[in-house]
Amino acid sequence: MTSSPLLLMQKRSRGLAGAVILMCLLGCSNALDLADGEYEVFALRYGRSRVKKEMVYQPLSTGEKRSGKLTFGWYVWLLKGNDRVILVDTGVVDQGLVKSWRIRDFVSSDSLLRRMDIVPWQVTDIILTHLHWDHAGNLGPYVQAKIWLQETEYKHAERTFASGVEQDAGMLLSDFQRLQKRSEAGYLNLVEGDLELYPGVSLRLIGDHTPGLQQVVVHTASGNVVLASDSSYLYDNTLREQPTGVAADYQKNLENLRKLNRLAASPWLVIPGHDPDVYTHFPRVTDGIVKITSESWAK
Ligand SMILES: [Zn+2]
Repeated sequence: MTSSPLLLMQKRSRGLAGAVILMCLLGCSNALDLADGEYEVFALRYGRSRVKKEMVYQPLSTGEKRSGKLTFGWYVWLLKGNDRVILVDTGVVDQGLVKSWRIRDFVSSDSLLRRMDIVPWQVTDIILTHLHWDHAGNLGPYVQAKIWLQETEYKHAERTFASGVEQDAGMLLSDFQRLQKRSEAGYLNLVEGDLELYPGVSLRLIGDHTPGLQQVVVHTASGNVVLASDSSYLYDNTLREQPTGVAADYQKNLENLRKLNRLAASPWLVIPGHDPDVYTHFPRVTDGIVKITSESWAK
């Protein structure tokens, strides 16, 4: 990396912060009293590890070297409000993968939720951004949740596993079979394209990282938050419009990165899939959990 994305964003966000403070002086509702269609958003970090830079960044045409490693955070996200508990992605439980990716401080998503006094059956909805093992690998505990996934992603997995392989394209057959069982039980909802799921929660079909990757746009007291998932691994991917090193469609990835910053209330609020700074920048709720809010960048 040639410049700190944090410094870059702090510079960019100062103007926006001033505008938000002024708007709040003119009449901002108390963040604790959620308005209709307003949600609280939390990032739950289930581990961290070192990964190759070449996975995070596509090699640049200038020939800039991408050797070495950098730190990855592993996350799921929680939306609370309007009598709903919505989990965005489920993380992983497969200990083989935790070991092979050398994920340190590993905690399953259901254990993290318990730290917020949420038990798995209270989760009303699960939005799966895509079917990679680190996002869709812990569906087991959430027995009551409606599941929302793009049909394109489901079909992609169906085609991938039709040949009888057990693991391919970042997905595990066992995760997909669990999803199929939920489908048979009537819990899976396949979405075709963009959708306002509930007032304040919208899904955007992007299809860059995987053919059916979807992002989530959430209305909060801080304005819109975009959960970009793996369209952007780090803030640096979005801010410097650097395509990720792993994508099913690199052109779509670049086009999406160019649009992302305009969709949220600030560049900080476009939450990348794996940036360790998310965990250190936002206010800590408890061990492993931070609240996504503009308060930290407004100061
Ligand atoms: Zn991921």
